[in-house]
Amino acid sequence: MPEDSLLHHALVRLDEAATHLSIDPDVIEKLKYARETTKVRLMIRMDDGSRKSFLAWRCRYDDTRGPTKGGIRFHPDATADEVETLAFWMTFKCAVMNLPYGGGKGAVQVDPRKLSKAEVERLSRAYIQAFARILGPDRDIPAPDVYTNSMIMGWMADEYAQIVGQAEPAVITGKPIALGGSLGRGDATARGGYYLVRHLAGDLGLASTMRVAIQGFGNAGQHIARLLAADGHKIVAVSDSEGAVASPAGLHVDMLLQAKEAGRSVTSTVGQGGHELLSARDLVGVDCDLLVPAALENMVDAANAATVKAKLVLELANGPVTPEADRILADKGVIILPDILANAGGVTVSYFEWVQNRQGFYWAVEEIHDRLRAIMEREGRAIWNVSRDKGVTMRTAAYVHALGRLAEAIEAHGTQSFFTS
Ligand code: NAD
Repeated sequence: MPEDSLLHHALVRLDEAATHLSIDPDVIEKLKYARETTKVRLMIRMDDGSRKSFLAWRCRYDDTRGPTKGGIRFHPDATADEVETLAFWMTFKCAVMNLPYGGGKGAVQVDPRKLSKAEVERLSRAYIQAFARILGPDRDIPAPDVYTNSMIMGWMADEYAQIVGQAEPAVITGKPIALGGSLGRGDATARGGYYLVRHLAGDLGLASTMRVAIQGFGNAGQHIARLLAADGHKIVAVSDSEGAVASPAGLHVDMLLQAKEAGRSVTSTVGQGGHELLSARDLVGVDCDLLVPAALENMVDAANAATVKAKLVLELANGPVTPEADRILADKGVIILPDILANAGGVTVSYFEWVQNRQGFYWAVEEIHDRLRAIMEREGRAIWNVSRDKGVTMRTAAYVHALGRLAEAIEAHGTQSFFTS
């Protein structure tokens, strides 16, 4: 495995966690490789009649604890390495939350913003046609990720139903409510992180009014801005793929949400309500109490980690902080609430959706919120205690917490199944 690969970096965290537990080295060996990664080339008809092809992957990283679970990303820079790393993180995230799932992930190498709606629909259906034999409510269950959403999940669920000849809503989560989606799935990722911060606020010594900077203003970024602003916290800077805006007095969150709703960048609000233009690169170093990376991987790295002024980082994105940046931030005394805990609210409510689809009985949104809060607080507290007891970072504690569960399940399957399952 190349040393500069994303998976290689992710495995650094596994090795680190393993030093704090006494587990069979075969368990670690099993967790170092994806069980299966399938690559296909999807060919679709474009609106102008031409044909175009796109690379696509689905990775089932580890299914020891249950069917593999993980989103599908549409992004021009998607690679097999990224998909496998995201699936590795899903394996640990599901174990952190004690969900009965393994980890998976999928991607299409495409910029969906350059496709028409009809072309995105054809691409989404082509993805399911290519991977239907891998998917299934008891085998592999996709969900939304970067640049995919509930509408796309709806098309995908419909395509799967046509292939198998019956409705099978539990095969995919993050669906529209009308197709068996769960109430509370839309803001679940941000809400889980919000409950976590609220629960640990006393332990972390957080101020009742925090200044917050948010990198990435999509599903995760918009909802965390809304939830924190509603509690009186000040959102002082946000960014998206086109740039950033800042206001030390606090940005107008409604104005930012309206801009995104209208398909515009957050930078389109510059000049209104005291919003000032900021370089997207500078967002990480904005003067604030809480930094929320909610965009893509490796956004806080060795080059900019020293500029971080926040005392707390809530990783709503997957893998936003590199291992080198981790060390720099730890030396500065910055506490990171790590991705496999902080953004696990999304997969947790996806799990609730799957449960509701299978039982055919749907819960009220209050019940979803209560169940999500209870799990975030239970696992967040357990990881906080591991962190204190072992004197390790919250990230290492989260990996230790998950690895213990994974090791127990791998060993329970029996050694004969280690490398053949
Ligand atoms: P999204 O597609 O809704 O939003 C992504 C946002 O990132 C957009 O605002 C985009 O403009 C912005 N962005 C892209 N490149 C950027 C850059 N260089 N600088 C600043 N902003 C940039 O995606 P999302 O669902 O909000 O996912 C964001 C992150 O959260 C990803 O890492 C994803 O894996 C993770 N995540 C999402 C969920 C979920 O349920 N949606 C669950 C867990 C983790």
